Amino acid sequence: QLPSRHLTTTSGDFCTSNPPEIRKQLRTYGLIPPVVESYEVQAQRCLKLLAMKTTPIEKYQYLTHLRATNVHLFYRLLSENVKELTPLIYTPTVGEACQRWSEIYTQPEGLYLSWHDRGNLRNILNNWPHDVEITVVTDGSRILGLGDLGINGMGIPVGKLALYIACAGIRPDATLPLTLDLGTNNKAFREDPLYMGSRMPKVTAEQEREFLDELMEALTDRWPGIVIQYEDFKNPFPALERYQNKYTMFNDDVQGTGAVIVGGFINAVKASGVPVKDHRAVFLGAGSAGVGVARQIVEFFMKEGLTEEEARRKFWFVDSNGLVTLDRGDKLAEHKVYFARDDNNGRQYQSLGRLIDFVQPTILMGLSTIGGAFNRDILQKMAALNQRPIIFPLSNPSSKSECTFEEAVRYTDGRALFASGSPFPSLEFAGKTLTPGQGNNMYVFPGIGQGAILSKASIITQDMIYASAESLSTSLNKQEVADGWLYPDIRRIREVSIIVARGVIRAAQKNGVDRATELRDLSDEQLDAYIKEHMYNPFNKRENIGDNVAQLLSTTNG
Ligand code: NAP
Ligand code: MN
Repeated sequence: QLPSRHLTTTSGDFCTSNPPEIRKQLRTYGLIPPVVESYEVQAQRCLKLLAMKTTPIEKYQYLTHLRATNVHLFYRLLSENVKELTPLIYTPTVGEACQRWSEIYTQPEGLYLSWHDRGNLRNILNNWPHDVEITVVTDGSRILGLGDLGINGMGIPVGKLALYIACAGIRPDATLPLTLDLGTNNKAFREDPLYMGSRMPKVTAEQEREFLDELMEALTDRWPGIVIQYEDFKNPFPALERYQNKYTMFNDDVQGTGAVIVGGFINAVKASGVPVKDHRAVFLGAGSAGVGVARQIVEFFMKEGLTEEEARRKFWFVDSNGLVTLDRGDKLAEHKVYFARDDNNGRQYQSLGRLIDFVQPTILMGLSTIGGAFNRDILQKMAALNQRPIIFPLSNPSSKSECTFEEAVRYTDGRALFASGSPFPSLEFAGKTLTPGQGNNMYVFPGIGQGAILSKASIITQDMIYASAESLSTSLNKQEVADGWLYPDIRRIREVSIIVARGVIRAAQKNGVDRATELRDLSDEQLDAYIKEHMYNPFNKRENIGDNVAQLLSTTNG
């Protein structure tokens, strides 16, 4: 195999924590300042350097540089400061980084495969010098909410895999950020002299499908058992349908999002004190996210004893044309038909407020991209109808959230069971500190990936995805439950990911798609220990000082 010096995931040779004897063996003695530093001192310097950078994009670049030059230090820093650093390596900063990728590019990270490489993909994969266990792949066609960014979308696989590593302990070397260069419909990029992808319009859906067929085949041939996560494709459904029963793959935008919302939702339903059969949900927004979330809630309602028909009829969807009904006179998009009402008896939709009066919902979900749609009147109606109204304004970013946390608290006298898509600060209300839930996908996708890897799952079933939601809902500690939280503290993400991974592995076993059948005999405690043992641990001194160094240490120590 080729040397990996041009890649960035095995560095550590120049780490200032390396003791003199190691420096001598690596022939880096004299090339590093003389002092042998502890992690604490190194971390202090990193955090000071970060503080010196004035813009998020500069902080992003500094962290990229740190990962490239000292991977273990980077991941220890990230694992210990998940809450503070995630916004700098992932959303929202990664959005700006992708928009300006061609401008801020300094070094290769990840693999690019172009349309004109077709027929040759398997060969190109040989250029990647590591054994890969998981890849995140995008075609850049819908990066966050920012539209088609072509190969500038590379920031997404890079950032997302950093979270897999930090949150679920997947080995840095075992990750492959993968960006498909299939043209872009972003005309400004095609005309930008700095743009680094193919300057052609995006290929057709049919051409993309052929390309993906070859890619899936090539990836699993090169790395049997590889987990393939799709991300930020403009239309995520065709590939999901085509590959989910054939390869170990999932789409986080569709499946991870549904799971993370359901995870918090299960806790909200429990906390509401209202039996499942008495809940009614109004959804503002019937796009792929809204309908995807509702589909998984149907699954939860069914597990709680409702028939599918009973569960389905607990939803009222509103889109830009009003209440989604079968007799509305327009041709409903296919994904809306399942939840369309046929019992409105000729009543026309007038407003969200009137619908709430009529339905008397216990649950109000927002996936409409309409900021402020849950206004004072709507929130007060929900508060009058329910002791603990469930209110989830899920649209991103914060400016598009259907309401803020503060509004939800104020207009429901602090009684709302609240989770949002974007972060909101905690606040004081009636002498108590109230903390909003945030349905952040990073609660589930790292555990789904790790669970699929460790169980050697042949495919990722819907039961495995659902198990990630259910496991997430059980991951809160006593204090978090007592404080009325719907999601665990994100700072405990490594513990949470173990619980999620265990649930995913158990579901794989139930479905018989696990190939690591020896894990079937383990008790839950044993399985947790097994997962923990197999997690990459940047806190481990040996790992922290670099792979080459760790190898040397193990040979010198016998
Ligand atoms: P989308 O496909 O554009 O769906 C938006 C939906 O809102 C459509 O059904 C649209 O109606 C409806 N809508 C637009 N204007 C409306 C209005 N004035 N009144 C009522 N309904 C209106 O978007 P999406 O992918 O489903 O995402 C929706 C939102 O969810 C985004 O803000 C996204 O950030 C958020 N989201 C959050 C998470 C998370 O929290 N983890 C994950 C995924 C998505 P038509 O169907 O008639 O156009
Ligand atoms: Mn996404």
